[in-house]
Amino acid sequence: MAESLAEAIATSIPGAKVRRRAGVTTILIPGGKCRVCGCTDSDCRKCIARTGHACSWADEKRDLCTACVGRKARHHKGGLRAARGGA
Ligand SMILES: [Zn+2]
Ligand SMILES: [Zn+2]
Repeated sequence: MAESLAEAIATSIPGAKVRRRAGVTTILIPGGKCRVCGCTDSDCRKCIARTGHACSWADEKRDLCTACVGRKARHHKGGLRAARGGA
């Protein structure tokens, strides 16, 4: 039963893997890294410096943090920066 529970958990987490060794079942959950700012579960100092608080994962793939959700959207609108003269 424990093994199928581990399988179920691993299946619900994208990228997670189940490893069994010597009767011990381990669920390997990928660390996750923000594709925008590059922060990880263990190093979120850049987000804290920028926003004043730690981020969490904005999507279940763990490749975009909440600190970068609005940032990315702003970036996508482009023209704003040029209109302001590059600030
Ligand atoms: Zn980020
Ligand atoms: Zn972060």
